[in-house]
Amino acid sequence: MTPVVVALAGNPNAGKTTLFNALTGARQHVGNYPGVTVEKKEGVCRHQGQSITVVDLPGTYSLTAYSVEEVVAREFLLRDQPDAIVNIVDAANLERNLYLTCQLLEMGVPVILALNMVDVAEDRGIVIDHARLAELLRLPVVPLVARHGRGTKELLDAIVALVAEKRPWQPLRLSYGEDLDGILLEMEALIQERGFLTDTYPIRWTALKYLENDEPVMDAGRRHDPATAQELETLARRVSDHLRQTLETDAEAIIADHRYGFIKSVVRQAVSRRPRIDRLYASDRIDRVLTHRVVGPLCMVAVLYGLYLFTFTVSEAPVAWLADFFSWLGGTVAALLPPGPLRSLVVSGVIDGVGGVLGFVPLILCMFFGLAFLEDSGYLARVAFMMDRIFRLFGLHGSSVMAYIMSGGIAGGCAVPGVLATRTLRSPKERMATLLTAPFMNCGAKVPVLALFVGIFFPAQQAQILLLLTLLAWLVALVVAKVLRLTVLRGAPTPFVMELPPYRLPTVKGLLIHTWERTWQYIRKAGTIILGFSILMWAMMTYPQLPAEQLAQLAAQEQAAAALPAGPERAAAVADAAAARNEAALRYSIAGRIGTGLEQVSQWAGIDWRTNVALLGGVAAKEIIISTLGTVYSLGAEVDDHTALDEVLAADPAWTPLRALALVLFIMFYSPCVATLVCIRKETGSWGWVLFSMTCNTLFAFGFAVTVYQAGRLFFAG
Ligand code: GDP
Ligand code: MG
Repeated sequence: MTPVVVALAGNPNAGKTTLFNALTGARQHVGNYPGVTVEKKEGVCRHQGQSITVVDLPGTYSLTAYSVEEVVAREFLLRDQPDAIVNIVDAANLERNLYLTCQLLEMGVPVILALNMVDVAEDRGIVIDHARLAELLRLPVVPLVARHGRGTKELLDAIVALVAEKRPWQPLRLSYGEDLDGILLEMEALIQERGFLTDTYPIRWTALKYLENDEPVMDAGRRHDPATAQELETLARRVSDHLRQTLETDAEAIIADHRYGFIKSVVRQAVSRRPRIDRLYASDRIDRVLTHRVVGPLCMVAVLYGLYLFTFTVSEAPVAWLADFFSWLGGTVAALLPPGPLRSLVVSGVIDGVGGVLGFVPLILCMFFGLAFLEDSGYLARVAFMMDRIFRLFGLHGSSVMAYIMSGGIAGGCAVPGVLATRTLRSPKERMATLLTAPFMNCGAKVPVLALFVGIFFPAQQAQILLLLTLLAWLVALVVAKVLRLTVLRGAPTPFVMELPPYRLPTVKGLLIHTWERTWQYIRKAGTIILGFSILMWAMMTYPQLPAEQLAQLAAQEQAAAALPAGPERAAAVADAAAARNEAALRYSIAGRIGTGLEQVSQWAGIDWRTNVALLGGVAAKEIIISTLGTVYSLGAEVDDHTALDEVLAADPAWTPLRALALVLFIMFYSPCVATLVCIRKETGSWGWVLFSMTCNTLFAFGFAVTVYQAGRLFFAG
């Protein structure tokens, strides 16, 4: 059998030398690591007929580049690639010792955790569930008392088993927060594409080292491929400038925080009565209240309700101002332009479409501000931590909560960042189930539509119904996720190791920048995708125009009405004639034809052809539903009567609360918008899932709406 090489790594005083002696006895050889004065001890032992060479690495707390020892240790691991690494940790100081473990896992080397000094830990009343520890860290754990040679046989068994297994080792991928995760992916792509140092270093590890400003790696990079090194350094500098501005800290500190967060979460689940790291002490005390079994969820509900209240009260007035402004703008522009296609395009296509979206900027701004506060302070991570228990029942993961929240699980939001947020999920199946169900949340574009209908048809119970709809969205998302996890995405759950960063007081500057970044994304969407689709929708609703003879006939009817003697009858006749003309024109247009065609089916859910037109636009972007309904339902297609949409709908006898409810349910659950679909395609890498998401969601939404509509008619109306 080929001899295997095992390296011993650990903090100073963890018991490395003691273990080394226990394993190898007198068969030792002392030399130096090449080029440096660091002592290198090697020894040999035999176990189960296998010859094992043990190398004692220098004792280090970390694998950064602060000392020669650290550099020597990690260079040995990466260049000599030992068959296994025994990471010896002091069980009585587990949190501090696991920092090194975490870095070893990030390198992707095969690690066995030797849990030393369990005798000391036991004396101090520290109970470590090592099976759980092994499960959470995904490595073999062997308890030891090196001084008495207890556990060394089991350790050797574990080494032989690990080497025989030849499992390909995956580097542990931690999330380092939104700011760093994005840039890391970018750097990884670059490193992979150029084959940058990939012979020696794992891809993500190199990227991390650039963020950590690690001189030895950056030196090696400059020598290997100066151009790529330059690009990576620029990327790293950009993110560190950004962090200094927003959070007044650097990437290294954030990375360390997230590693400690990860460790803390592991220790929390595997160790009872544990000692603490001082830096995290205050956070732990806060957590004792905020993540308490009973008090925690109550606080969470209060915080979320506060966010809701803050968003809606603060934004109420500015939203109204903006709505007034756009309606004024529409009127003014209409008065300036001559009647005709240009006026109709500018007023109905551009101003109504884009105005409808920009009108919600204050609401979005407030919401993002609130979310930025919760996120920057570290609270959002606790929400995920608490929700994990519930999510587990549905085959999801605590981290899925974040994706749901970002997609609009609390108030507004957007499925695009929600889908992107699933990147922190480690299990592909849990990730898939999350990203396919996140679009069920009531995003910032759906909320105004829901608010409109609820406001018209259920004015007395607005807040309660909106809250119920939010809960319904969660329920449906969870149930659908469960169904997916039981069928197409079947697989075992992964243990929950969520990074719990220490609490920080957010800086005002950081909050403003984070809020602005996201709001700007929303505004940019209004200026690009939505502008484009609103013009397209306008064209589809305007062309082809009615043939000349039919137009003449309709115009004659209008003239006849206008010729009636003045009075309420004439007014009614004029309005009817105008409505008839607009309806005829709309029915004749492409969009109208599609809408009327679909009505055959959609009527089962009480959805008429006009609404179909708006729903069609909603696939482009949910914001377009309202602006299209506005155009479709405004009695004159031109602006002469800019009657508010809610008044028109409220006055229309064809609309009942039941119909409104069925429509709201359909809108909540049907196909995700184009931007989300593009994102799903990017994240899953397949058009199949895009198609799945479009058709299954729409079928489900339709089934739901039909059931509610027909049941409602049976029990209440009929
Ligand atoms: P190194 O710095 O990692 O090489 O640590 P050493 O092997 O020199 O051990 C540091 C101290 O811890 C020594 O006094 C050892 O006797 C003691 N020690 C090592 N393993 C154990 C153990 O399992 N239990 C106890 N109680 N002491 C241990
Ligand atoms: Mg030693």
